[in-house]
Amino acid sequence: MACIFCEIIAKRRPARVFFEDDATIVFADINPKTPVHLLVCPKEHHERIYKIPENLMVRMLKTIGIIAEKLKLENNFRLQLNNGALAGQIVDHLHLHFLSRGTAENLVFEERK
Ligand code: 5GP
Ligand code: ZN
Repeated sequence: MACIFCEIIAKRRPARVFFEDDATIVFADINPKTPVHLLVCPKEHHERIYKIPENLMVRMLKTIGIIAEKLKLENNFRLQLNNGALAGQIVDHLHLHFLSRGTAENLVFEERK
């Protein structure tokens, strides 16, 4: 079955992308729960936290540091990871929710080429 996050990564599905590098991508959640609600994904498709290569998890954490600084929310965010359908995981492409009730004024999206 096609993965909607892989479709976004491949630019076949639109998304408001905030940050992207060779290993990770960060885009706005379509149904935000807080003023800043971003999804931090590895570009490689992995379904569950325990299956992801260690170096990729490190890259995701590095990306979180970068976006927190870009947003000036270094001291005002929380992370959520739903692992498995019973825990509320709807999209089977591992992702971290980056959530903040702080200001979204630095949330400027990239135009993707
Ligand atoms: P999960 O419940 O799997 O941890 O989170 C999946 C998240 O993906 C949900 O918060 C949902 O709003 C978001 N989402 C679902 N479909 C799309 C989509 O097509 N585009 C974007 N940007 N977010 C999506
Ligand atoms: Zn995927």
